[in-house]
Amino acid sequence: MQFRDLKAQYTALKDEMDKAILDVVASSAFVMGPKIKEMETAFADYVGVKHCIACNSGTDALLLALKAWDVKPGDAVFVPSFTFFASAEVIAMQGATPVFVDVDKDTFNINVADLECKIEQTLKAGKLTPRVIIAVDLFGLPADFTKIRQVADRHGLYVLEDGAQGFGGRIGERKACTFGDISTTSFFPAKPVGCYGDGGAVFTNNDEWATLMDSYHIHGKGSDRYDNIRIGMNSRMDSIQAAILLVKLRAFKDYELVEVNKVAARYTEQLKDVVKTPIVPQGFYSSWAQYTLQVENKEVRNGLQAALKAVDIPTAIYYPIPMHRQTAFSNLNLDDNRCPVSDQLADTVISLPIHPYLSEADQDVICEAVRSFLMK
Ligand SMILES: *Cc1c(COP(=O)(O)O)cnc(C)c1O
Repeated sequence: MQFRDLKAQYTALKDEMDKAILDVVASSAFVMGPKIKEMETAFADYVGVKHCIACNSGTDALLLALKAWDVKPGDAVFVPSFTFFASAEVIAMQGATPVFVDVDKDTFNINVADLECKIEQTLKAGKLTPRVIIAVDLFGLPADFTKIRQVADRHGLYVLEDGAQGFGGRIGERKACTFGDISTTSFFPAKPVGCYGDGGAVFTNNDEWATLMDSYHIHGKGSDRYDNIRIGMNSRMDSIQAAILLVKLRAFKDYELVEVNKVAARYTEQLKDVVKTPIVPQGFYSSWAQYTLQVENKEVRNGLQAALKAVDIPTAIYYPIPMHRQTAFSNLNLDDNRCPVSDQLADTVISLPIHPYLSEADQDVICEAVRSFLMK
């Protein structure tokens, strides 16, 4: 059994995929070919924003947004502590200071009351200038952007939606990757829509920021690529990845997103009486990058993981160390009780295999193994 079965997906899409890849090879337009524009247009249309710019990774996408806003030393950027490292890493890469915010114990997403509190504390300390809120759509569920937007407006901050795991999610009819002033996603193979290597994208309706991010991602280009008007980076997407993503987006729209939601619903139905299953608030729709259970404590969690492993069921711990406890941020000298929910989740979460190709038979085996361990 696979945690995320990319081979099953390839088998299902093989004919179309092989042709798409070989067409790029035959065209020899490997970098910035016509496939890139086609992919950018398809992804912008799918989420419903004006601009999509493809780049080399979800990490670079976040970095491009911070560069467009000239986030720099002395700036404070608010970010949840319970996330993948890249969400916070990019802040430090710009020389700015990450301010870690706790998350909600039901949705795993940024806790808006604590966000407000951390902004007030930062203003009161008077050392940093609050600039940006990074809100992560953790495990596929959009963050609470209505409330986040209110806080951002009140304090004059930009909202950056880290939709690396959120692509395909919705609040009402509005899709993930449209909630930020700039939004980003990742096409790392294991994400809801992944390519066959590294890839990412930024999304925005703002023309000025789109032009800046387009420039930054190709060596700070001006009117052409040998006219360099700022210091940028090399973060182009490969044409082969764009061709792969066009095939994957079609499958995602046609059936994958629906199928993965069926798997999640079935898990919840079979497990909710024995364990805390994921909570999707009214009006929200998840793309299920992960299906994550919460158990009582670390011993139970580690025991469950070992019991599942013994019967060949792979699981994963996202995430074992919250950002405010990462060695890389030890220079920030953060207080010990900064993000208690993030601390607790790091000890008590466990993610089950989930993907659109997971058979009902395998789901039943997994649920039975979880139930029998927890009811022992
Ligand atoms: C995967 C991920 C990223 C980084 O994406 P890459 O494409 O791996 O660089 C950023 N934020 C979150 C929340 C992620 O899960």
